[in-house]
Amino acid sequence: MSQQTAEVYQHYIGGEWTDGEGEETFESENPATGETLGEFTRGTEADVDRAMTAADEAFEEWRALSRIERAEYLWDIYQELKDRHDELGEVVTKECGKEISEGKADVAEAWHMVEWAAGDARHPKGDVVPSEIAEKDAYMRRKPRGVVGCITPWNFPVAIPFWHMAVALVEGNTVVWKPAEQTPWCGQIIAEMFESTGIPDGVFNMVQGFGDAGAAVVDDERTATVLFTGSAEVGHQVAQEVAQKPGTLAACEMGGKNGIVITENADLDIAVHSAIMSSFKTTGQRCVSSERLIVHEDVYDEFKERYVDIAKEVSVGDPLDEGTFMGPLIEAEHKEKVTKYNQLAEDEDVNVLVDRTELDESEIPDGHEGGHWVGPFVYEADAGADLRCTHEEVFGPHVALLEYSGDVDDAIEIHNDTEYGLAGAIISEDYRQINRFRDRAEIGLAYGNLPCIGAEVQLPFGGVKKSGNGYPSAREVIEAVTERTAWTLNN
Ligand code: NAD
Repeated sequence: MSQQTAEVYQHYIGGEWTDGEGEETFESENPATGETLGEFTRGTEADVDRAMTAADEAFEEWRALSRIERAEYLWDIYQELKDRHDELGEVVTKECGKEISEGKADVAEAWHMVEWAAGDARHPKGDVVPSEIAEKDAYMRRKPRGVVGCITPWNFPVAIPFWHMAVALVEGNTVVWKPAEQTPWCGQIIAEMFESTGIPDGVFNMVQGFGDAGAAVVDDERTATVLFTGSAEVGHQVAQEVAQKPGTLAACEMGGKNGIVITENADLDIAVHSAIMSSFKTTGQRCVSSERLIVHEDVYDEFKERYVDIAKEVSVGDPLDEGTFMGPLIEAEHKEKVTKYNQLAEDEDVNVLVDRTELDESEIPDGHEGGHWVGPFVYEADAGADLRCTHEEVFGPHVALLEYSGDVDDAIEIHNDTEYGLAGAIISEDYRQINRFRDRAEIGLAYGNLPCIGAEVQLPFGGVKKSGNGYPSAREVIEAVTERTAWTLNN
């Protein structure tokens, strides 16, 4: 951090670092050690109000620039993200406990998004369309919506903020961003990056804090669009609040209870690898992590044996070590939640195959006793049973094996039997089964013969059902941050 000496890190509002109106502060913690990384001002409604005023006042001048001029500020950030890839990857890993390869991937995903948004500034926008009347011009043009409130989760603390902010800014909106309370250090660094670009005051604003500060962003009458990524619980609350405010729009990207279908002719090497990566990497804390493995009876026993053997063995380690497979959970409160779901599964009478909820002391890396460690919890359950553990998002290494018989439609029926609809995968050697899954699985992100992991900024990223509200992010975020005008002109 460039403000390395600060005792309490501040908000960035109207082009200035500023103390909060409130007295409270909070700490950022390294979840692998429990060590405190820094102390931050806790934002209040009054701080959000100041940030909104700054963003609102900056809007007219910012929108008056060309898209290409606005993108220039983003190109500086693109370069900085690339130049500081390793260093920032370490910060991500220290603050959110992801394995170092994942920490660096988070930073790379951020620059991919910035590259997309800034590069897109030079592409045609809107449509020239034919008119029914000769000599009349007809166009669809896009306009910025105004102040965009961005509320982000902790698990992609660098990538997701840019998924929100890069396109919003290039399109001419100003931004008030509330980073996740678990990752304020990443928030601080991103704000410093914006400051160093010389972006006009008030165009980018950051208020650190918790859910109450996020709620103030949602409630403020000047917020034209809310871009929210996080849990379904909070996202639906945000969407409901915004529905009371005509003219305001909320794009909510939420959680999932994602499944992988493994059919009778699946390549089991691919199946085991995909399932292990998707359920245990980042300790199951990705929105696309899979907690349901739907396996055909013909290959069930072999798959189960191979999967369970690995689940018993995978080790946790210092996430800063290149060789570490799994890091810690984000915080003590989350460990409690995962533990409760593991217990709930037992109470729901599933057949537990691996229970590493409490790891042995010898499994915990030296010097990391204060971390929030957990190992895999794997069980088999009746695919047709109405169990909470097989239907609710746990967001940890908590995995159900669900056996099916019949054809791929039977697997898809089990797959679709959740309220969520974010991501899912099929492992099969039969292209008809793969295509059937692609077309019938009720999800926004479908993977074939791949781990249920990964995002491409050139594609829409978003869920259906309880996982999204019809405004995917990545390239599609433009729909949430612009208004379309139908423009006709008589020559
Ligand atoms: P969370 O919902 O607890 O918090 C997300 C953000 O919302 C935080 O900044 C938080 O401070 C803020 N917030 C909390 N209460 C609020 C309120 N009442 N009003 C406004 N803002 C409020 O989620 P989390 O624990 O940070 O992240 C994990 C969740 O995010 C998981 O469910 C995961 O699946 C989901 N997620 C989804 C995607 C996606 O693209 N679909 C990506 C990453 C994570």
